[in-house]
Amino acid sequence: MTFLPFYGINVSENSTYEGDDMNKIKLIYEGKAKKVYETDDPTLAIFEYKDSLTAFNAQKKDTMQGKGRFTNLISATFLKLLQDKGIPTHFVKLIDDNHQLVKRLKIIPLEVVVRNTSTGSLCKRLGVEEGLDLVPPLVEFYLKNDELGDPLVTEDHIRAFCFASKPQVEKMKELSLKVNDILSKYLYERGIKLVDFKLEFGTDEEGNIYVADEISPDTCRFWDLSSKERLDKDRFRKDLGNVLEAYEEIWRRIGQPKAAIQKHYEARLFIYLKEGVLDTQGKTVLSSLHSLNYPEVQDVRVGKYLKITLNSPSHQEAEFKVKKMCEDLLVNDLIEEYAFELEEI
Ligand code: ADP
Ligand code: MG
Repeated sequence: MTFLPFYGINVSENSTYEGDDMNKIKLIYEGKAKKVYETDDPTLAIFEYKDSLTAFNAQKKDTMQGKGRFTNLISATFLKLLQDKGIPTHFVKLIDDNHQLVKRLKIIPLEVVVRNTSTGSLCKRLGVEEGLDLVPPLVEFYLKNDELGDPLVTEDHIRAFCFASKPQVEKMKELSLKVNDILSKYLYERGIKLVDFKLEFGTDEEGNIYVADEISPDTCRFWDLSSKERLDKDRFRKDLGNVLEAYEEIWRRIGQPKAAIQKHYEARLFIYLKEGVLDTQGKTVLSSLHSLNYPEVQDVRVGKYLKITLNSPSHQEAEFKVKKMCEDLLVNDLIEEYAFELEEI
């Protein structure tokens, strides 16, 4: 039995659903990241999250034991969060570590990408710098077609070829931006920047639109807020290593209640040589000042200025950490002194 610590999704208690074996009737589709099974209820499907990883339209492939567990649990957490905030999603319940029950929908053949920061294909396509803040966020549509490499499409293309109706496009945009607001805030509070993400949408028999598919490190870009460390599939795309560890880190952070969550601080740190220690650069500046007729200057100490951003639960704790950092690493305590200002950002 799986227990989601944050939401307390307890499989056996939450269930109108009678057990896994009789329900997983037939494999309908096997994709790159999931297997989709028919259930004995035609309105529902079971997703099995796989351990395989693919990138660049499946040209790069690997298997990573335990990955499917993280994408399943993370996706369930996000979908449930969105549902609680009034966003219609296909999520019904978590079944176990690798399975979840979802509404079976007709998928609209578009991928909706929301971007808060420039990176990836956007930079490549437009030749823009990585890391630019995109305000307001960009919403892009891609045609869901592996053979064509999921090309970018305009709203006119969507209309001309009936990939989706105009009201559906409007609704997908509106929901995507709401999802962005909810997830960005939730992740920020846990020290993660939501850089961009991809959503899929589907419709039920009545034509109602739901957020479908998955929301996980396979489909989003997550950067650590202070170190900018990549905590998503870019680790696999770019061979950065520790892929599974990054997925686990996301699961660890989103599984934590907000109370334990870190705030963000900026420390402005000044390091300079102690008085009495010969500071040759300082002496040069001092003699220049004297020759420029500033005889009142008594001494000059040339130093270093460092700006450090860090996560911490409190100001006190952050102060303690910066002091420790200085003493352990940044300052040679025989000859250097330091001072810093600390501010929550
Ligand atoms: P792919 O390799 O095509 O991306 P995945 O491994 O992601 O496939 O498997 C999931 C498949 O199920 C995708 O084709 C996705 O569009 C589809 N899908 C997502 N949500 C639903 C849903 N609620 N009902 C039916 N199909 C869905
Ligand atoms: Mg997919």
